Amino acid sequence: MAAVKNWLCIQCGHVLGDVLGGELKVLVPEGYARTRGANLTVRCPECEAEKTWYTADPIVRSIYQLVDSIAPLAARRMIESAVAQIKAEMRELENLKQA
Ligand SMILES: [Zn+2]
Repeated sequence: MAAVKNWLCIQCGHVLGDVLGGELKVLVPEGYARTRGANLTVRCPECEAEKTWYTADPIVRSIYQLVDSIAPLAARRMIESAVAQIKAEMRELENLKQA
């Protein structure tokens, strides 16, 4: 059985959420969590530090981690829209396979 792990603020150690089986349950008040592309950004209610929860999709997650480390905002937007397009096309292919 998988154990629940705390997802902690990188700056002050405040508990931002619980992780179970790779899924995050956010434990901050409304307004402290927002999506950014496929990911979730959580702001610490104690110290305002931001931490990003990356999507469980391993390909998309790798792309975002790479983008976060190298790209300015404009490039990130371009890549986000490219990823969205690729995912839409993949969904379309899945639908065609099932039809
Ligand atoms: Zn904090």
